[in-house]
Amino acid sequence: MPSSARQAERTARRRLRRGLAYAWVAPVTLVGLVLALVALLGGARAHWVEAQLEVAGAHRLRAVGRWPHIRHFGAITLGHVILGRDDATLRRWRRHEQVHVRQYERWGLLFWPLYLAASGWCWLRGRDAYLDNPFEIEARQTDGS
Ligand SMILES: [Zn+2]
Repeated sequence: MPSSARQAERTARRRLRRGLAYAWVAPVTLVGLVLALVALLGGARAHWVEAQLEVAGAHRLRAVGRWPHIRHFGAITLGHVILGRDDATLRRWRRHEQVHVRQYERWGLLFWPLYLAASGWCWLRGRDAYLDNPFEIEARQTDGS
């Protein structure tokens, strides 16, 4: 097979994998898009970064501010949507949140129950439900914090 044909085949496979990843995560991304829309109507700004939609100003969402475990809300990932307090926060947490995007691509809708189960397991063992959650540990290892 000529190298250009191999290259075209690799590109087609990569696009297929990306399409499947987006489809697998689509239900969660849809939730993120609804929250993004509400935030945008409240004055937030959105822009594409690599393959994710980042929304700055999402802290204006009343629902986000009410969640007690994210009182100090910085950023949260919902599928391929990252909602953040502001541009600086999104830049600071970008690599971390992109790990969560990949975790969503790996687990799809299962990510939420797995994340909650991992937090619950940590809490039951007397550990921190957020900091000791293996999904957060993976994200921190990648973001360098
Ligand atoms: Zn995280």
